Amino acid sequence: MTVIEKAQGFALTQALNYISGSPEKNLPKLLELIEIIGGKSFESRARAFHAVLDDPDGNWYRYIMNLWRDIDGDVLKATLRNFGLYASIIGAKKQEENVKKLGCNIPYAILLDPTSACNLKCKGCWAAEYGAGLNLTYDELESVIGQANELGTQFFLFSGGEPLIRKADIIRLCEAHPNCQFAAFTNGTLIDEAFAGEMLRVKNFIPAISVEGLEADTDFRRGSGTFRKVERAMGLLREKRLPFGISCCYTSRNTEYIGSEEYFDQMIAWGAKFCWFFTYMPVGRDAVPELMATAEQRAYMYGQVRKFRETKPLFTLDFWNDGEYAEGCIAGGRRYLHVNANGDFEPCAFIHYSDSNLREKTLLEGLRSPLFMAYHDRQPFNDNHLRPCPLLDNPGALTAMVEASGAHSTDLQNPEDVRELSAKCKHAAKRWGTAADALWGKSCCAGCRDGDLLMKKDA
Ligand code: SF4
Repeated sequence: MTVIEKAQGFALTQALNYISGSPEKNLPKLLELIEIIGGKSFESRARAFHAVLDDPDGNWYRYIMNLWRDIDGDVLKATLRNFGLYASIIGAKKQEENVKKLGCNIPYAILLDPTSACNLKCKGCWAAEYGAGLNLTYDELESVIGQANELGTQFFLFSGGEPLIRKADIIRLCEAHPNCQFAAFTNGTLIDEAFAGEMLRVKNFIPAISVEGLEADTDFRRGSGTFRKVERAMGLLREKRLPFGISCCYTSRNTEYIGSEEYFDQMIAWGAKFCWFFTYMPVGRDAVPELMATAEQRAYMYGQVRKFRETKPLFTLDFWNDGEYAEGCIAGGRRYLHVNANGDFEPCAFIHYSDSNLREKTLLEGLRSPLFMAYHDRQPFNDNHLRPCPLLDNPGALTAMVEASGAHSTDLQNPEDVRELSAKCKHAAKRWGTAADALWGKSCCAGCRDGDLLMKKDA
């Protein structure tokens, strides 16, 4: 990080100190400062922020004020500086420059698996397929983060396995990289008083806790008693004024509840500040294809997420149905990539194929490998960005890339042939193709209506 970038971070922190006394009055002044730093590339986002600040009754205005009310002041400042300024403005500019200079994708975020071990055994989860004994060393994690910083990447997420099995190393990384933002997909059961204290100390770590609805659905997939432990963890984080989100996998079994107003209100009541939605992917030989959401359920989620974005103070992302905002698939380093606990560079957490490993190649060499370049050259995989995925929505696309690049399955227990995996998605891809083509190109409201109609028709 350059001296100028550090000075911008300092200026932002000072501005945030000033705002804390009266966010309602002072936030517009902060926006003016960010506009100066962000320049042209921030213009459209600045317009959106101005619209939010001009509407005190709107859900986004309430959301911003809730952040100031509910989150520890120093943690909030570190998050806004690291995530808002260093990752999303300064880092994004550097990534864009490097894409042009280096001719490959440069990620906005990197997902790292410190371990394949987990303290739970959830139904349909692939974590066990890598074997429970794989770990990235602290030095390997540190090396990837350092290399990524050079390319402009400042945002790192941990998954697994259960990443908090390595919580001491995670905190050490947060401490070693105070200008980076860290997050983790976690089952939440290992969050305790001591860890919350460490989060308060380092200030740059945010958990996204996996919850699959209420007690019956969460415990169905994650095991009896899990839901109560998760509720305890959320209570502790709320009490310490620490930010957290929810990571939610919608399946054929729980979609109607996950997309309901009751559940959105429940997440807000728990104190979550964001929810990342995923849909179930039948990855691995032990996968349960019956858990895949139907096209009607996916259309329902499309409508519900958009509807509540207009009314609820909760930031949500649906990793499949929001392809239109990212212009398709974000994998292969276009916005993110995955490093599994064996050190393989994978295009995405759901794509278990690789042709490079951090023990043999640098991050940049991984980004320039045949598999990652196939992603770079072929994205988007569909002109309809509601069908972004080369596996779930366009199964032939993944097969072609894996076969052309010579990538191998990274499933160490039971390697899965890409044609067999893709075959499991064919029926769902066809059904969703019809629904998604009907939704594509319509305004948000028409889309929402169509989503509801599809749901009713099926019922
Ligand atoms: S490969 Fe599929 S699941 Fe992964 S980022 Fe792309 S669209 Fe999403």
